[in-house]
Amino acid sequence: MSSRSILIFFCLLMIGISAEAKISGDEKKDQNKYVNSTGDGENGWEAGISRRVLSPTTDVWLAGYGTRRTIEEKVHDIWAKVLALKDPRGKQVVMVTTDHQGMSRLIYEDLFQKLNERFHLDRSEFMLTFSHNHSGPRLRGDLVDYYPSDDEEDKRVDEYSDWMEGQIIEAVAEALNNLQPVDMFKGEGECDFAVNRRDNKESEVPELLAAGKSLKGVTDHYVPVLSLKNKDGKLIALLFGYACHPTTLSGNQLLGDYPGFAQINLENRYPGVTAMFFNACGADMNPLPRRTIELCEKYGKMLSDAVEEVIEKPMFPVSPGLRSAFRFVKLNYEEVVTVEKLKPLTTGGSDIQSRWARRMLNVLDKGLVLPSAYHYYPVMAWQLGKELLFIGTGGETVVDYSLRFKREYGVGNTWVFGYTNTMVAYIPSRRVWEEGGYEGGPHLDEYGHPAWRWAGDVEDQIAKGVHEVVRKARKKK
Ligand SMILES: [Zn+2]
Repeated sequence: MSSRSILIFFCLLMIGISAEAKISGDEKKDQNKYVNSTGDGENGWEAGISRRVLSPTTDVWLAGYGTRRTIEEKVHDIWAKVLALKDPRGKQVVMVTTDHQGMSRLIYEDLFQKLNERFHLDRSEFMLTFSHNHSGPRLRGDLVDYYPSDDEEDKRVDEYSDWMEGQIIEAVAEALNNLQPVDMFKGEGECDFAVNRRDNKESEVPELLAAGKSLKGVTDHYVPVLSLKNKDGKLIALLFGYACHPTTLSGNQLLGDYPGFAQINLENRYPGVTAMFFNACGADMNPLPRRTIELCEKYGKMLSDAVEEVIEKPMFPVSPGLRSAFRFVKLNYEEVVTVEKLKPLTTGGSDIQSRWARRMLNVLDKGLVLPSAYHYYPVMAWQLGKELLFIGTGGETVVDYSLRFKREYGVGNTWVFGYTNTMVAYIPSRRVWEEGGYEGGPHLDEYGHPAWRWAGDVEDQIAKGVHEVVRKARKKK
């Protein structure tokens, strides 16, 4: 690579970074296959579990609202948790869940390269998924123009990010070293505190709920649950998801928001269990009403109650077998910024826009060309046995993606993960793109992209990518 190519690559990398569904008839027929959830760990699955506390010990700011928020109180620790799975043929995959707001492409790449070198995992075998918690620390390369930070704060973010990466790598090593025979079971519950924030005014929600009136808009209130038991039949891990922003709180407290409380509740209820949370496609969902610690605890309890209800009933066994696929999808921008449009923003825009415009102009001043597309939108698929398909989507995917892929691949058999591998930006469906508004409108600059808006084919491109990885992951070898 020439030095110019390296510079362009680095620049593009930075831009990239900074830059109701019901149970189907088939599923009902399958109900008679449900078995009591006590296995013998002899079906061929192995799993390794590990965890690390990732609460910062420095004054690094809290992420997600674009303001200076130093930690004044720790409500509870935040974590990275690891689930390593191995099938009878020796195929391994690793999932890392964390209580962070957003993993940048820089961090994802760094983690992947290290895991690839040390454990020979390919991209399809590593899934990094973060809860999008807005009461956790900032991370390197995420929303770089969003915060009024100085060199000192940027240094703290770098130091915390380095330490966090090291902890995650060691946790993965531990999980891969601790593989043990397990039985896996799946099930699904429901929890209804997520509100479609595009279709309901936050200020009107309490009154509507008090009056028993229904709220508007699509939601995905399902709570997928995977339980893992060792050969003695003891529950050792739980993986569960929900589609909703962890934005109940926005103050100066460190915690994992409602997913943090839900995980702690489950770990207290089932001693020795590691409870792992993933955010499904919750970009347009908010926990409403919000802004009090009592509400945050309440939503955490509602979610952990939903999980508990699932695991206290017979669950469906997941047969052994693991296949995986990954690809980057190219997402086109609607319009790439120009010098003429950037210059007025350096003084006349919001603080975020000014910082962004100055950074883009710096790139252009160097004679570099801003890309007309984002080339690194990650999609992945894991097929677990015959019964369960995981689809991982990058960034903040709106609920339409979850509903679409569950419709296409089977409700109850398909889990769609949002916030996977890289933060990217809001990812509207075609419907949301046409409607506009925050999640569908011109806000890519906030995420550091050299453009304001995705092109109208964003859902088509992602769906094509997802279809391809699912096809690959389901191909018989
Ligand atoms: Zn968000």
